[in-house]
Amino acid sequence: MQATLIFPPATDPRAPHLGLPYLAAVLRGAGIPTRLIDADIGGLTALLRPDAVAANLKTLERHRPGGMDAASLSGLLRRGEALTESIPRAFAILRDPIDFFDAHLFREARATLQDGLDLAGAAAGRPVHYSLCPIRYDVDGIDEQSLPDLIAVTADRHSNLFDRFWETELLPSIAADQPGLVGISIVNRQQIIPGLTLARRLRERGLFVVLGGTVFSKFVTKLMQLPEFFAHFADGVMVYEGETAILELVAQLEAGRDFSRVPNFLHVHAGRVRLGRTHVEDIDRLPVPDFSDFPLQDYLTPAPVLPILTGKGCYFNECKFCDIPFINSVSKKRYRVRSPEKIAQDILALNERFDCHHFEITDEALPPRLLDRLADALAPHAARRLSFTGYARLEPGFTVSLCEKLSRMGMRKLFFGLESGDQATLDHMAKGIRIEHVRPVLQHCRDAGILFHIFSIIGFPEETERSARNTLRFFEDNADIINHPGNSFDIHPFGLELRTEYFANAAHLGVEIPQAAIDKDFVIGVRLDWSNTRGLAGEDVIRLVGEYGAALRRIYSRFHNAELHLWPGFEEFAVLYADHYAGRDFPFRTTLPDDDDPSPFSLAWCPDVLVDHDGPRIRVSSRSKVVTLSECAYRLLGSGQPRLAREFLAECIALNLSGTGEEARPRLRRMIDELIRANLLQIALIDQPSRVRQGLGGGVCTPTER
Ligand code: SF4
Repeated sequence: MQATLIFPPATDPRAPHLGLPYLAAVLRGAGIPTRLIDADIGGLTALLRPDAVAANLKTLERHRPGGMDAASLSGLLRRGEALTESIPRAFAILRDPIDFFDAHLFREARATLQDGLDLAGAAAGRPVHYSLCPIRYDVDGIDEQSLPDLIAVTADRHSNLFDRFWETELLPSIAADQPGLVGISIVNRQQIIPGLTLARRLRERGLFVVLGGTVFSKFVTKLMQLPEFFAHFADGVMVYEGETAILELVAQLEAGRDFSRVPNFLHVHAGRVRLGRTHVEDIDRLPVPDFSDFPLQDYLTPAPVLPILTGKGCYFNECKFCDIPFINSVSKKRYRVRSPEKIAQDILALNERFDCHHFEITDEALPPRLLDRLADALAPHAARRLSFTGYARLEPGFTVSLCEKLSRMGMRKLFFGLESGDQATLDHMAKGIRIEHVRPVLQHCRDAGILFHIFSIIGFPEETERSARNTLRFFEDNADIINHPGNSFDIHPFGLELRTEYFANAAHLGVEIPQAAIDKDFVIGVRLDWSNTRGLAGEDVIRLVGEYGAALRRIYSRFHNAELHLWPGFEEFAVLYADHYAGRDFPFRTTLPDDDDPSPFSLAWCPDVLVDHDGPRIRVSSRSKVVTLSECAYRLLGSGQPRLAREFLAECIALNLSGTGEEARPRLRRMIDELIRANLLQIALIDQPSRVRQGLGGGVCTPTER
């Protein structure tokens, strides 16, 4: 019997996900033929093929959708004309070992793919919002937390962006194998609608379909009450961990079909939902994940970045806002870890088999001691030039010597959850870190050449504005360590997750949640739909996030005056960039150099802006901003010629671009920096390769060319 395991859309396919390769390794190890399908990267690629883009464009020209403002639609349609050519080039850039590291080309390529997705979403019978950053797949008018909505939307082919690809290619190809088992892994909220739609289609073709992945493991209690869910979507749902369970399931499918013997398996028997015994895996006995079948050359990177796991759960496991302790409660041990020697063997095996040199360690929080031992185990293999990224806690265990050792191992970037710059708030959430330990840890990372990301949040239960300001102050006070193009940070509004201690104690914390927000079938969290009666109100959190974001862009203006990090921040991109730029200058910036900076730079209009005559003036539009200026100003600002800041500003003042005299200088700087931030202008030091200026060619139209 063959098993076919599918990773459905929609995520941002930068790399394969880890869960299915583990199952494939277990199944193949037991002699069971197994096929892995990444329908996520497959779906994205199919949706952005030139013929699909052209068809979407035609649909939109015939029928203008509601729900999109006229300016955005008109910009999309104008850029759309070039998309049949610019999208293939965008894919090529993201997969190219040189172009990928050109931050301007990278940004433009990602934005071009997004244009294609926006076009597809707008052309659908019912508007669909599919984006890579932030990852999003929403269908207008559908709440994916509601079972009736899910039943309705998965039956509506007009709201399925992948319908054509599935009908003509994916479904026939799966059916041709006649698999005895089809597994669909749903690990993100954004995969729920496409994943369940796919499950439904496969079941209509008579296949035995099982859902797995972390999302539905959160809903075991709810699913026990919903035989209707199974009637529509699945013959069973595999929850928690699947390696042992899937072997038993195959055995039962081949003989006996007694599904009560399958651990971690929800299924319907005699009209009722049943759950088999709970089984927790021995992490040390898991095989090396098997990524063969996944199209490693197709992901949105120039080289594979593979996920690896060193342990399941979290060794700390106590933060009151986090739902990992709940997910982890299936095991008696808070953290089950694989031996460092085995982890090293896994890494070496993947390096050899897939020629992979970049790895993302996907553990929730990597203990310093484990990393220390892993570095020892990998030390004899330094010649392989491996690079890593992963998540960790801001603990004093990250000493000078450990950070140096990790740097030698190839650790390129660590992602740290600071959460708050206020000790009382950290203690309130039981984060278990001391604010005075944070700066030394970051310093040790910086000195060892390890980049870092800092996650922070404001609006915790009972958090006041004073506490939230301490988080901003942390970034102000530590700018000397943090300010590097490869470091990244964010300040998010707090979202209340249901399976957390904060939710369990909501009443004691003055947290009020409207019943309607949780009276749904599949609720993971209530983002802003709750009241912090003893802390910051929701609108204050939004205001402060905006204010702090603007402050951070000012403080870190040289490289971070942008909506998206210029040095891409996502794990897979970050580790590749960190490896590429180790020991090299990063020539891209987000502001003009200082007046006394001797580095020549070039400033040019971004190749993907739209340029129009507006009487004697020129109107330049990016996806987020429109400016109108004189032709002289247009030519001067975007000349692309080598410049020095002082002389360049003097020329702008002479042209009266934003007033005359010395007092115009700061105003001009602000204006130009704002144009850079809005992706109207782009700036690079001039030792940049000339391709910076070439761009993808989509939508550019200089006044003289018209
Ligand atoms: S926030 Fe991180 S450290 Fe805290 S319990 Fe969750 S995973 Fe563990």
